[in-house]
Amino acid sequence: MKNFDFRNAKTLKSAIKILDELQENALLVAGGTNVMVDIRAEKVNNRTLVNIRDIAELKGIHFRHGEVSIGAMTTIAEMSVSNTLKKHAPALFGAACVFADPSTNRLATIGGNVGNASASGDTIPPLMVLDATVHLVSAQGERQVNIFDFIVKNGVTTRKPNEIITKITFKSQPKTGFIKLGPRKSMCISIATAAAYVDVDKSGIVNDCRIAMGGVAGVTVRGKHAEKALMGKKLADDIWEKVGEEVQKDISPRDPSVRAAASYRRAVVPVLVKRAVNLAAFGECMGEVKK
Ligand SMILES: Cc1cc2nc3c(=O)[nH]c(=O)nc-3n(C[C@H](O)[C@H](O)[C@H](O)COP(=O)(O)OP(=O)(O)OC[C@H]3O[C@@H](n4cnc5c(N)ncnc54)[C@H](O)[C@@H]3O)c2cc1C
Repeated sequence: MKNFDFRNAKTLKSAIKILDELQENALLVAGGTNVMVDIRAEKVNNRTLVNIRDIAELKGIHFRHGEVSIGAMTTIAEMSVSNTLKKHAPALFGAACVFADPSTNRLATIGGNVGNASASGDTIPPLMVLDATVHLVSAQGERQVNIFDFIVKNGVTTRKPNEIITKITFKSQPKTGFIKLGPRKSMCISIATAAAYVDVDKSGIVNDCRIAMGGVAGVTVRGKHAEKALMGKKLADDIWEKVGEEVQKDISPRDPSVRAAASYRRAVVPVLVKRAVNLAAFGECMGEVKK
């Protein structure tokens, strides 16, 4: 750890002021579960750490007029016991339920997960299928960005150096599901994840859908080819081979990679997508892949 200074922002107003003064010299610290790892690995140096953990305005999950709002400083632990998320965003609830481990989850925040923009970040595919909006504030005012426009690539977002994520919002969407495959059941960064939103009519025909995946490319990706293969089809056994072929066009897993070979990821992704779609359509909220 080299040349770090520290500032404590107790209110959103003071955080905005500090960021405006320091610009790219500032490094926001929410739960610190990514930041501290990066500091120890000397990936970041010569910065002023700006602690935003105590800012009450950035915490909490609310539901109003059909819309869910999650404060950026809401922890993964809080999300994993939220009845609001379980009912209105099962995919995101499911992601919180299979995240890391209890002690990490008490620190880790949704704002930090989105701000970190890892290609394996567990909350990002669910937020993509929920078509979520990221709310940012700076001394210049507020702005809102769709999650697809916010995430650029692994570790890179369109956030300006003086902006803070304040909250994430999306419309209630009970028909969503999430599946995570990791090397073990907890304390694991995912090998691959799939999230789905699916609207099916009474006869089981897909009217609308969104698929998103993590850990399968240099960025969390939308499964546009898989979506096209699902649209207008009945969710029955004969469609999955074609969906599995099409989803290969949506992903570009790295090879070599630390956690799994590209061939392995290509083999498991069709299974994850099928399970996420079935969860979304038929009402279960989450689940890890059972061996
Ligand atoms: C043991 C361990 C297990 C883990 N397991 C998982 C896992 O299962 N799934 C997973 O997805 N991740 C996992 N992670 C990674 C990490 O815990 C998550 O990404 C977490 O959500 C980060 O949140 P944080 O509050 O700790 O962020 P921080 O480390 O505080 O910040 C992360 C980044 O986001 C920025 N940031 C934070 N808050 C804001 C804000 N409000 N506005 C703008 N920028 C902001 C910071 O400046 C920094 O660049 C794990 C990490 C560890 C150490």
